[in-house]
Amino acid sequence: MGILDWIHQSAKKLKDVESQINEETKDVYEVYQRNVVLEREIAQRTEELRLANQTLLTLEQVWDMMNSSRPLSSVLETIVSSLYGEFGYVYSFIAQKAYDENKSCYVLKTYLENDFSIKMGNLTQNNIYDFKLYPKQGGIIENSIKQKEISYYVSLSDFIKDNIGNIDEEEIDVFVKECDVKTIIILPITVQNQFSGFLSVFSPRKALKDDELNFLNLFARQIELAITIANLFETVKRQAVTDHLTNLFNRRFFEDALHREATRSLRTKQPFCLIGLDLDHLKTINDTYGHSTGDKAIAAVAAAITNNSRSVDIPARYGGEEFFIILPGIDAKGGLIAAERLRSSIEGSVIEGLEGGITASLGVSTFIEQTTNIDELFEICDKAMYTSKQKGRNQVTLANADKTSSWQDIAIDAFVDILTQHRIPFNKELASDLIKKLQIKEQDATKTSANETLYGIVDAISKSYFPLYQDGSTKNKVLLATLIAKKMNLTKSEVDNLKVAILLYDIGNTMMPKNILKKAEPLNQDEIAEIKKHPVLGAQEILKPITSISDIIPIIEQHHENWDGSGYPNKKRGQEIPTTSQIILIVDSYFAMISYRPYRKAYTPIEAIEEIKANADKKYSKELVEAFVYAIDEFEKM
Ligand code: GH3
Ligand code: MG
Repeated sequence: MGILDWIHQSAKKLKDVESQINEETKDVYEVYQRNVVLEREIAQRTEELRLANQTLLTLEQVWDMMNSSRPLSSVLETIVSSLYGEFGYVYSFIAQKAYDENKSCYVLKTYLENDFSIKMGNLTQNNIYDFKLYPKQGGIIENSIKQKEISYYVSLSDFIKDNIGNIDEEEIDVFVKECDVKTIIILPITVQNQFSGFLSVFSPRKALKDDELNFLNLFARQIELAITIANLFETVKRQAVTDHLTNLFNRRFFEDALHREATRSLRTKQPFCLIGLDLDHLKTINDTYGHSTGDKAIAAVAAAITNNSRSVDIPARYGGEEFFIILPGIDAKGGLIAAERLRSSIEGSVIEGLEGGITASLGVSTFIEQTTNIDELFEICDKAMYTSKQKGRNQVTLANADKTSSWQDIAIDAFVDILTQHRIPFNKELASDLIKKLQIKEQDATKTSANETLYGIVDAISKSYFPLYQDGSTKNKVLLATLIAKKMNLTKSEVDNLKVAILLYDIGNTMMPKNILKKAEPLNQDEIAEIKKHPVLGAQEILKPITSISDIIPIIEQHHENWDGSGYPNKKRGQEIPTTSQIILIVDSYFAMISYRPYRKAYTPIEAIEEIKANADKKYSKELVEAFVYAIDEFEKM
């Protein structure tokens, strides 16, 4: 090959290599370009994912908060601050429609303090905690709320001029230059009948992406939900502790409050006072003017109580026409003054359509000064109220704290005696446990009330021989029996005896053969005869030796005698039977009927009441059945 040929060939090879390199460079360039596109896409998707994640996280936080019991203002503030913090906004707030001297305006519901809000405050000479917007009529904000649509301001100075007004243009310019705000987004928020306003977001970005808008929209809906839930919470909370006719606290709240107040009072050594109040002659008012006037009388008493209460007082409607007020920090002297003021205010209330007005009888007792036992505080207050009635009504009586044994003391002593003397067949360990409980009561009267201790003891003893016995039955029986007794005008000492008897009347059952009480089928004749022995067994063998309850024994012995003479053990009839025994019979029958038995279904309360009514003039006196029907209604309301 000549040199020329060689050069020629080499040049060709070089060209080939060159073109190959060119080809490959082109490929590499294409790959590079494709990578750039892919990377951009990955970055975009990652950003979307990040935003979606953040959205989810923020929404999750919002949900957690909405399910907490924090007040609405704090929930809204956290929602708004998480929004502005996480998504790089300059500022954000929620505003609610309000009125200022009849002019419609928007007040801020959330107060985030940052550089922007401080500068804004300086510009408008407003504190952020007292910031009002007066949107231009027919302007962006008004339209947005009216149309329920998102809208924007693309200039911060327009936003200020439209909604704040009266600010020097130059000052606005300086402020706008200092703040990096390009878009202001307005998202209307409405909750029917409760809230009308908007969420506002100050963004440093000009362009708004669909994702961001969707997210903001979602946020606005969450805020609406938070407001709805918070309002529901409030309503439910209020309803659970207040009485709907009077708006005063209900019995349950009052009882808890009494415990709390007693504990605090013992700790701080400050007294508190209890005022009890019962409306006079409400039955006559109802009978003469109708029930709705009776209701007005109750409402008038409640209004007098509310008007005469300090914010720390705890006024409660305890029963139909019976009220109690706890006055923290007040002693007997102050309590008497407060009660007298209340009495005179009730006497002075005017009730439409009711001639002669209304009056009430009041009792006053004081914790620490008179007693450190809340059961006793309540009892002596109730007694004082009763004395006011007996002395002619429309007056105030200070409780008499002279120590006579309360019914709880008598019952506790009886149970301690029964358990320590082994008067009933009972597991020894369990017995010593119960005895300890009865003694703990004496040490700390506020933690568990004597009543609760006693009810627990009776529940435990009853369950030991009758596994179907329902916890809480004893308390309910005492409550219902007391309501019936009061309706039948029993004296205080009769009511006390009845309460002790309710706790003890079935104690004879502990001596029954276990197979009878646990039997799943109805009992046969012999077994019924055996069961019928329990009143006498209980009374004679177990209780007779306990002399402090000698008054109660005849009540227990006769609690299965029927009004028409068909009962046992002595076939007594009518007035021969103590009313207290008859009350035990009716209460026992009612609770037995509404409980399940292996051989029959539980009656519904309505069926049980019907059954009791059908026995008027048979098992029970007519008067007793009437009192029962009244009491069960009151009982159901508790
Ligand atoms: P006293 O002066 O001895 O208290 O007589 P009283 O008539 O007020 O008391 P009593 O206990 O004999 O009757 C209470 C009455 O209160 C009977 C009951 O129907 C009525 N009552 C209870 N709750 C309400 C209520 O919410 N509205 C109305 N209108 N009456 C009620
Ligand atoms: Mg009354």
